[in-house]
Amino acid sequence: MATASLRIDLDAVLANWRALDAMTSAATETGAVVKANSYGLGAAQVARMLARHGVRKFFVAATEEGAAVRQALGEGPEIFVFSGHMAGDTEMVGDLALTPMLNSVEQVTRHLEALPGAPFGVQLDTGMNRLGMEAAEWQAVAPMVLGAGPKLIMSHLACSDEPAHPMNAQQLAAFRAMTDGMDVPRSLSATGGILLGPDYHFDVTRPGIGLYGGLPFTEAQSVATLSLPVVQIRDVPAGETVGYSNTWTASRDSRIATVAAGYADGLTRRLSSVATLYHGATPCPLVGRVSMDLITVDVTDLTEVPRSLDILGPHQGIEALAELTGTIGYEILTSLGARYQRHYAGGQA
Ligand SMILES: *Cc1c(COP(=O)(O)O)cnc(C)c1O
Repeated sequence: MATASLRIDLDAVLANWRALDAMTSAATETGAVVKANSYGLGAAQVARMLARHGVRKFFVAATEEGAAVRQALGEGPEIFVFSGHMAGDTEMVGDLALTPMLNSVEQVTRHLEALPGAPFGVQLDTGMNRLGMEAAEWQAVAPMVLGAGPKLIMSHLACSDEPAHPMNAQQLAAFRAMTDGMDVPRSLSATGGILLGPDYHFDVTRPGIGLYGGLPFTEAQSVATLSLPVVQIRDVPAGETVGYSNTWTASRDSRIATVAAGYADGLTRRLSSVATLYHGATPCPLVGRVSMDLITVDVTDLTEVPRSLDILGPHQGIEALAELTGTIGYEILTSLGARYQRHYAGGQA
């Protein structure tokens, strides 16, 4: 089989959720962010497993994602949509009982007119300038909006991965100023905010990356293992080249494995000649260019013929791979290709 195998450890996701949940008091409810197909790992599988273990609040970016999660979960758990109630969303929001986080007066009007009495939340901008109502806008509509009974008021931190950054305290103060005294559950923290401590926890937290094994949750268990099948192995005499544009020349007589995954599977071309794959604990350097469906790996030093090589696993996690190309674990996960066979382990207990 020439499709790679992506193993997703649902026990690790659950352990990460529980560890993040344990960092907040019993009065704070821990939700789960499953946007972008649970950061590439499979929203239906992750959400179902977490719901089975008691998670009641899920968060997605777009209404269509919310529809998929509702289909996976059935009735019951709340599904909050960060992008709010967009034109064209009304039927899905209403039929599937999604909870849009209203981001503007326009969205407030749309929602309350189209679906009076249907659940909604409010997103406020506390300085990130990305989503949500600003203070003046909020002040103008707050009495009317609060009268309609929002389920949640939230904002998002721009710099929570840097605990010492003054932006954190600044946004916390802005959030308090905009929401203190309102009898509505509040949420400010994603993974990074949970780690900032109790002042940031409020009533509901929204971890994403920490569930999936990424920074800034340094204690996270690793969730994804990506094994790429070896299609072919050949001997390459010293002096010959490998791959497009002849970028790699064998400096010794070499054995080269051709492995089935490439930039169409999310292995960016910038990994050319810089990445390492693993056979067990033995590192094997990627040589030459990453092509669309294939990469080539120097396996000269292996004593056995490998059937597959790992690019994500115990010896190289998402952050280590991310560092090679100057990106972040979030991008490694969300780039994981659609061609990979996703296998799920655990999550039952
Ligand atoms: C993506 C996102 C989260 C989750 O963030 P992580 O850093 O992955 O924990 C929470 N809230 C909002 C608004 C988001 O966009």
